[in-house]
Amino acid sequence: STKPGRTILASSVSNTYVDEITSKVESLRKERPNGPLLVGFLANDDPAAEMYANWTSKTCESMGFRYELRRVEEKDFLEEAIIEANRDNAVDGIMVYFPVFGNAQDQYLQQVVSREKDVEGLNHVYYQNMYHNIRYLDDKQQLKSILPCTPLAVVKIMEYLKIYNSLLPQGNRLYGKKCVVVNRSEIVGRPLSALLANDGAIVYSVDINNIQKFTRGEGLKFQKHQVEDLGPFSNEMLKECCADADVIITGVPSESYKFPTEYIKEGAVCINFSSNKNFDESVKSKASLYVPSTGKVTISMLLRNMLRLVENRQKMNLL
Ligand code: NAD
Repeated sequence: STKPGRTILASSVSNTYVDEITSKVESLRKERPNGPLLVGFLANDDPAAEMYANWTSKTCESMGFRYELRRVEEKDFLEEAIIEANRDNAVDGIMVYFPVFGNAQDQYLQQVVSREKDVEGLNHVYYQNMYHNIRYLDDKQQLKSILPCTPLAVVKIMEYLKIYNSLLPQGNRLYGKKCVVVNRSEIVGRPLSALLANDGAIVYSVDINNIQKFTRGEGLKFQKHQVEDLGPFSNEMLKECCADADVIITGVPSESYKFPTEYIKEGAVCINFSSNKNFDESVKSKASLYVPSTGKVTISMLLRNMLRLVENRQKMNLL
């Protein structure tokens, strides 16, 4: 049977950033004749991280960047290796493949990466700006703050899908939209829900424990999102939240998890950022637009962040 909607691949979205990224790299020829340098630190033997590193490397090279994978055999040496890269003027961007220790030490290591080279946008200052809906690092609004890659990728996908309404004022372009985000990790789900709510959406943030509502309040009266606890997780409540949801975004890290297709409103948009397929085939009978994965857009945002960092360092006369 013919399906009512369409499947949109991440590559269609990431392709729209190729020109912007390659021309910026070209404009840096004087400072970086061989292209800006991204350094990735790998201190685990996770095959998924290895794959992601490979993929990042290929994308980098195809767009005129240099990529260097630095393997650190002894986890306890990673901090020093990061500090060395922080100090090295030839290094433009740094990323670490987590988990390393798999505990709170990983959050510490994340903050060791210099703010000026943090391509993933995981520095505390960037996070705080994002949660508080602050777009610049300085009062003169010369230096743009960096957004975490994966949440930013989902936002860019939603712009591509025209869920963002460009007729509305910047910053309110999701006004009237309802979104469900199944994942509330500090790396993706919570920042994503905050970004969407800051842009005017009503967001139901779902995790294994409970469901929360993120909004800027009635008439978008608040400058940044507020959070309300709706209660412990239940399928009934999830179903209720989905009944009039325009967008459903999933990020459950489990092979067996499948989002219940019967909860999806006819014509809703479905986006999955988990490396597992959180929607089964039947999603295509309900969704207007279905995006099965987002990784390629995440890498584009990584490179875009890197160029923004280089620009910021130029403006601060650090280059
Ligand atoms: P995580 O384990 O830190 O968080 C998982 C979240 O899902 C938690 O909030 C948890 O409560 C929630 N959850 C789990 N089972 C649930 C259920 N049955 N119902 C409702 N909520 C449930 O993981 P993470 O770091 O956020 O990563 C999640 C997934 O996203 C992984 O598959 C990861 O590989 C992927 N990921 C993708 C990208 C990308 O660029 N595409 C980037 C980062 C992570």
